[in-house]
Amino acid sequence: MTVISYGATDVGRRRKSNEDSYFIDDQLGFYVVADGMGGHAAGEIASRLAVEALVEVFRGDPTDRGVSDREKAIERLRAAVAEANRRICESIRDHSERRGMGTTMVSLLIMENQAIIGHVGDSRAYLLREGRLHRLTSDHSWVFEQVKAGLLTDDDAQKHPMRNIVTRALGSRASVTPELTERDVLPGDIFLLCSDGLNAMLSDHQIRETLIRHREDPEAACHALVDAANSNGGEDNTTVIVLSL
Ligand code: CA
Repeated sequence: MTVISYGATDVGRRRKSNEDSYFIDDQLGFYVVADGMGGHAAGEIASRLAVEALVEVFRGDPTDRGVSDREKAIERLRAAVAEANRRICESIRDHSERRGMGTTMVSLLIMENQAIIGHVGDSRAYLLREGRLHRLTSDHSWVFEQVKAGLLTDDDAQKHPMRNIVTRALGSRASVTPELTERDVLPGDIFLLCSDGLNAMLSDHQIRETLIRHREDPEAACHALVDAANSNGGEDNTTVIVLSL
């Protein structure tokens, strides 16, 4: 299946630095968004370390480019997340000023007719299919746990003062387990990966409308999503990757 993809990242209207990182490889069919946290530039370091480690481990041996086998892909993805976590923890150990740094990650692997999504934290993956927007990840965040327990609505969660508290991140514990989700892939599908700077500023309805409006053009979709996040306040860094199949 042919994939057209594009990614964009923006510092937003309030923050001084951009702590998000992203990565795109159409040949490998591998896509990552990471959203770093921690002061003194540590967030930037954490998200960059995570993306580098994920890509390096996921790519594997250069003679063995691409993974065609599902089990192998899942095994590599888990190894890549473990290595990313290990490097961030090591970096914190070696630099005391980086204490408290961490990062979320969401990755998407497109295989023949299958997508494997891995995530840690509150970066999201969405799928637009036949005009319907499906959220493919469930945030590892305090507010999302309240939503699951029926104590908050999705709208409450989006505006909640504790919405930034993630319950799973790379760099916070010696070992971290990514949540894996698998979907079939159909021609015409549009996938979106994003940091929470997007979905904090835009409702799922607005995300859906924007993706539909630019469904033929991932580049235009990315710019429109970032612009919309900024016009709604741009309170955080916004990173998006849009893939059209
Ligand atoms: Ca963020």
